[in-house]
Amino acid sequence: MTITPLMPVYPRCGVRPVRGEGCYLIGEKGERYLDFASGIAVNLLGHGHPHLTKAIQEQAATLMHVSNLYGSPQGEALAQRLVDNSFADTVFFTNSGAEAVECAIKTARRYHFAGGDPKRTTLITFKNAFHGRTIGTISATDQEKLRSGFEPLLPGFKVVPFDDLEAAAAAVDETTAGFLVEPVQGEGGIRPASPAFMAGLRRIADEQDLMLVLDEVQCGVARTGTFYAYEQYGIRPDILASAKGIGGGFPMGACLATERAARGMVVGTHGSTYGGNPLAMAAGQAVLDIVLDPAFLAHVRQMGERLRGALEQMIPNHDHLFEGVRGLGLMLGLKMKTDSRGFVAHLRDHHGLLTVAAGDNVVRILPPLVIGDQHVAECIERLSAGARDYDIAA
Ligand code: PLP
Repeated sequence: MTITPLMPVYPRCGVRPVRGEGCYLIGEKGERYLDFASGIAVNLLGHGHPHLTKAIQEQAATLMHVSNLYGSPQGEALAQRLVDNSFADTVFFTNSGAEAVECAIKTARRYHFAGGDPKRTTLITFKNAFHGRTIGTISATDQEKLRSGFEPLLPGFKVVPFDDLEAAAAAVDETTAGFLVEPVQGEGGIRPASPAFMAGLRRIADEQDLMLVLDEVQCGVARTGTFYAYEQYGIRPDILASAKGIGGGFPMGACLATERAARGMVVGTHGSTYGGNPLAMAAGQAVLDIVLDPAFLAHVRQMGERLRGALEQMIPNHDHLFEGVRGLGLMLGLKMKTDSRGFVAHLRDHHGLLTVAAGDNVVRILPPLVIGDQHVAECIERLSAGARDYDIAA
C-alpha cells in the first residue's frame, strides 16, 4: 500500500507545528515561525490566547454538545450578539465556511420559493471566486482545478468577471435568485471589489428583488478593520456567510440573514448535528468579547496601515520581484512579478516567515489581528532578507 493514512489531498510542506505562542508557531524540532498566515485567516487572536483558551476549557468541562432538538441558551445568546452587531435578524450556525455558504445558497433559493417564484434558482457568481470544497460550493466557481473530476456538478450558477458591474447586470434573467460575491476575494488573490461594483449589485438586487449574498468567510470578523467588510462599502447584504476567524481557531461558521431573506427557512428546511454546539458558542463569544471592542478594530486598522506602508516602502528595493500591495486592513496581498508559490516556500524554509500563496501571483499576508509594531518590523526584515537571497531561477 502506498497511500498515506492521511488522505493525500494536500501538498503538505515541511513545517510540522506542535505548539503556538501568540504570533509564533513552533515546529516538532523546536523551530519558530512568525505566523503571518494564521491558519489562513483563522487564528485572529494568535495562538493560545488566554481569554479564548479559558472559555473553551470551561465550556468543555460544563457542556460540550447537545442536539439541536433542545433549546440553546448558548446559541440564542451568540446569535443575538451577531444580530446586534450586523445587518442580520437571524443566524444559522455551522461548523465550517463551506457549510455557511451552503446555507446561504439554500436561503437565497428558498426566499424565491417561499415568495411564489420557484424558478429563480440561479446565483450569479464571479471568476476566481472561492466558496469552499463541497459539491455545491465548487459548482459556484469556474475554477477547473477545483471542479475537475467531480462532475456532474450542480446547475444554478452563472459565473461572470469579478468587479464588472455591466457583466453582472447583463447576466440577470428570469431565473436569477441573486448574487454571491466575496467583497474581498481571498484565494483569488486579495482583490477588494470596488465600491461602485458593490453598490451596483445592491441596486440591481433592490430593483429586481434579488438576494445579495456575501461570502465573508475569509474577509469577515474584523480582518479588514471593521467587524464585517461590507460596512466599508456602505451597503447591507441580505445574506452573509461567515466562518474562519469567528471561532478564533475553533471550527465554526455562521449564515446571517435578514428576516425577509430568511422567510423560507422554516422548521425542517435545514439542520446540522454539531452546528451551534455550546463549545463553539463559547469560542464565538470569547472572540466577540475582543473583536467587537472599537479600540480593537481601530488597532486592526492602524496595524493594517503600518504593515501596508512598510510593505510599500520595501517594494522599490526589490522591484524585480514585487509589483504592489493590495487589500484591506490586515488582509493584504503582495503582488509578485513571478510565481508567488516559490517565494512563499522560500520565506517559510529559509526565513521562518509563514505566508500563503494565492491566485494571480500574490503572497497573502494574514497575520493574527493582535500583532504589534515589533511583528510588523520582524515581518519586513524577514521579507526583505528573503527577497535579497531569493533566486527566481531556482
Ligand atoms: N469562502 C471563502 C471566501 C473562503 O476563503 C473559504 C476557505 O478558504 C471558504 C469559503 C470555505 O471555508 P471552509 O474551508 O471552512 O469550508
